[in-house]
Amino acid sequence: MVHAGFMSATAPRGTACAACPFFMQRFGRRRVAASSRPERVAASDDASTSSTSSTSSTSSTSSTSSSFVRLFNVAVPVDDDPGKDDFNVHESLLAAVKKKLRTEKIRPNAEKLKHARVVRKAFDARKRTQKRWVYVVDVPAEALPKNVKETRGQLELVSGSSGYHPNQPGQHLDASKEKLPVVVVGSGPAGLFAAMQLASSGVPVVLCERGRKVEDRGKDIGRLVVRREINPESNFNFGEGGAGTWSDAKLTTRIGRNDDPVRQVLETFVKHGAPEHILYTGKPHLGTDGMVRILKSFRKSLTALGVDVRFNTRVVGFEVDGANSPGCSLRGVLLDDGSCIKAEACVLAPGHSARELYQVLVELGAELLAKPFAVGFRLEHPQRLIDELQYGAVDADKVQRGKGTLPVADYKLTWNDQNTGRGTYSFCMCPGGSIEPTSITEDELCINGMSFSRRNSLWANSAIVCTIGEDDFAPFLDRAAHPALAGVEFQKHIERRAAEMGGGNFTCPVQTVPGFLSGTLSDASRLPSSSYRLGVKSARLDTLYPPAITSSIKDALREFGRMKGPKFVGEDALLHGAETRTSSPVVIVRDRDSLESTAIKGLYPAGEGAGYAGGIVSVRA
Ligand SMILES: Cc1cc2nc3c(=O)[nH]c(=O)nc-3n(C[C@H](O)[C@H](O)[C@H](O)COP(=O)(O)OP(=O)(O)OC[C@H]3O[C@@H](n4cnc5c(N)ncnc54)[C@H](O)[C@@H]3O)c2cc1C
Repeated sequence: MVHAGFMSATAPRGTACAACPFFMQRFGRRRVAASSRPERVAASDDASTSSTSSTSSTSSTSSTSSSFVRLFNVAVPVDDDPGKDDFNVHESLLAAVKKKLRTEKIRPNAEKLKHARVVRKAFDARKRTQKRWVYVVDVPAEALPKNVKETRGQLELVSGSSGYHPNQPGQHLDASKEKLPVVVVGSGPAGLFAAMQLASSGVPVVLCERGRKVEDRGKDIGRLVVRREINPESNFNFGEGGAGTWSDAKLTTRIGRNDDPVRQVLETFVKHGAPEHILYTGKPHLGTDGMVRILKSFRKSLTALGVDVRFNTRVVGFEVDGANSPGCSLRGVLLDDGSCIKAEACVLAPGHSARELYQVLVELGAELLAKPFAVGFRLEHPQRLIDELQYGAVDADKVQRGKGTLPVADYKLTWNDQNTGRGTYSFCMCPGGSIEPTSITEDELCINGMSFSRRNSLWANSAIVCTIGEDDFAPFLDRAAHPALAGVEFQKHIERRAAEMGGGNFTCPVQTVPGFLSGTLSDASRLPSSSYRLGVKSARLDTLYPPAITSSIKDALREFGRMKGPKFVGEDALLHGAETRTSSPVVIVRDRDSLESTAIKGLYPAGEGAGYAGGIVSVRA
């Protein structure tokens, strides 16, 4: 039996992991066992340059077997709708439902139609002169004639719940035979839901989280943004709730919006205190304040289910039988105090910033692959400018910093460079939000965005990022302990340069978009205001990344200016560096059916750090 782990600065000397001979060795990549079927890697949410298109197909089914018929694309003009906070079937909506049915040549029973219900509501401002709310509505089947024709994406029969049978890690474990617990590493969205799912099935669970619970984590974050003191174990990335806690908490996902797992995640949020409208609104979001409330309630539920929740507990390695051999299997999980939790299995969900654990997995011979991801900047504008660009000046007045009838405006932009194949796109937009430091150490600077539920700040920020892959990582191969970790080295290099450009102490380097495009330092005395609380410094962000990446981002910004108008790329548009952690740079390869590591039996890599999903809802689903 062997151990592999890493030593924390505070770990007692002579812990099992440090003494282990395997810790000192370096291993190459091991082949996947022939029987294993590696899983396809999905892109993270919001990172999309593609969109899901539903091809319209027609079939005939008896509507009487179902209790509801789902109508899509039911449109109500903006001036006929009560606004973003109303989810009732109002008169205008009822009229729109009837109109929709007429186009499908269906005559409804008007009385029974009143029992329709709103499934989703989204604002569509794409056409300036025809702004509208677009609904998905469930109509009782009895309100419609029998044997209505189903048209996918327009009119679909809802045959009740398909039953939720998630392919969750540990699903095959027979609770009755368990003696040892399953250890879940990380209390981010992936770890929390895995723990909940396992405990609900009667499996004993120990949940290990290196950071502190949300109440204390809030104080650590306060110390960072006020006194510039970082707690490496409790910050914007680490601590209860994971990276998505101090965030915008957008709950959008690229998984089918009406899929059972997504619905179940949203319903679980509601059960733990989220407002019900997240079930209906087209772009649900909670904001940081919403997330913190939910997490406290979630923790109570886990404890009630018997989960042993341990904060300030960092996992540093794993005890296995047969490291680097085809029969390698997990026996236990090593902690930073030198102890070992003997475990039946481990769900590994430490997010994409637990870089040391990738190294540990390399030591044990786990199969790791480098994964393309995206890097760039946070672009910030005054929110009022984005409201005007999206809605026009008159309707922008209806936003009222989150209190009006129209949602605080956002945008989603993509551009593909035909010559290089690189995509550049906006990502993880935080309307009415702020830019925050998501670094874990002082010598590396990376940033991200967050907002509160009202989205009432004066600024709008969004990542503008460009896809990068193996060619970009190649110069970093010699620094990496394993070829799969070259992307991590690339990230570290950029984050260190960003910290230097800012002059240290988490000061953020910035450049106006015109300065970036022309390659000139922006005049420090004329910089637009920034939401970043730790101060900004004028810097040559156009020299931060290798030229090929900068060139793609420049071309994309010029194109975005053509799409949105010159003000979008004008002097009020301020780039902040660096956005580097959009998703994991590494994949821990899993078997497609069992979701188990292809190399270490009993280890279930999950969530964003495993490289299969990104985003608060997707990693849970
Ligand atoms: C500022 C910010 C804003 C974001 N906004 C959004 C948004 O609005 N919508 C959205 O969908 N996504 C958003 N994201 C992304 C989203 O938060 C992540 O995709 C998601 O949290 C990933 O979930 P996870 O559970 O896989 O990992 P994480 O959330 O990263 O959680 C991992 C957890 O593991 C713990 N951990 C790490 N190493 C160890 C160890 N060795 N031992 C024990 N514990 C460990 C960490 O402390 C952490 O709590 C945002 C991210 C950031 C940083």
